[in-house]
Amino acid sequence: MKTKIKFGPAGNPIGFNGQTVNVCDYIHNIGLEAYEYQATYGVRIQKQSALKLGENALKNKIRVSIHAPYYVNLSAQKDDVLERSVQRLVQSARVAEWMGAYRIVFHPGFYTKYTPAQALDRCKRAITMLMEDLDSFGVKNFTFAPETTGKRSQLGSLDEIIEICQSFDHFAPTIDFAHIHARGRGCIKGADDYHQILDKLEDGLGEIGHGKEILHCYFTRIEYSDAGERKHHVLMEKEYGPPLEPLLEALLDCGWDTTIICETPFLEKDALLMQQKYQNLFR
Ligand SMILES: [Zn+2]
Repeated sequence: MKTKIKFGPAGNPIGFNGQTVNVCDYIHNIGLEAYEYQATYGVRIQKQSALKLGENALKNKIRVSIHAPYYVNLSAQKDDVLERSVQRLVQSARVAEWMGAYRIVFHPGFYTKYTPAQALDRCKRAITMLMEDLDSFGVKNFTFAPETTGKRSQLGSLDEIIEICQSFDHFAPTIDFAHIHARGRGCIKGADDYHQILDKLEDGLGEIGHGKEILHCYFTRIEYSDAGERKHHVLMEKEYGPPLEPLLEALLDCGWDTTIICETPFLEKDALLMQQKYQNLFR
């Protein structure tokens, strides 16, 4: 049976000491199939390096994505914050095109003084500006992937992410299962909860999982408070949720092409463990 989940680390592997442009050699050698470039503290990579990274990924058949800066707030009150947020996403999209990254992950924003509906509305207006800017720069090959966020103060519930993706071309969801779990104060307990999430995605964005689209995901163990996400934990710390095996089984049931980016502190080590658990399902 064809394996349909590709696993990889969020950022450079802990055991990797070389230059980032060659990171996919390392990823391939240890047996993983995905890599997410982290531009979380700013888009700093030069065009030549991004192109090299893309070639190296292609050579090694590694599926690449990019995480845009954290300092993006598309529902911000201030115009200058909105403008800078749009700029950072434009930069991310250009770099993504050079790297051949199939997704540009970002956090949509914060509610601040707005109601969730108002914040979502502001976010959509900012995305319209973003699309106009990209058009004027001639950037054409890109897929933005707004992420389900982990704090209750952040725009980015599963419903909001689905609505954003329904509203624009070039948009697909990023599902951070740990964030959904933390936001919901421990709401993911087993297979049923995962199936509910996947069903909701299929109802809202039908084309995912029918061979046309790939579902981009994150997984980590997570500690949370009433406000949501607090801290990421390694895979072996099972006292923290959400559970992994029921997720892998649910994804296998659906038959969806999926990427799971590992965000635990052990990165590639835990990505390999997740992959092992997935492969065990075929035995
Ligand atoms: Zn994120």
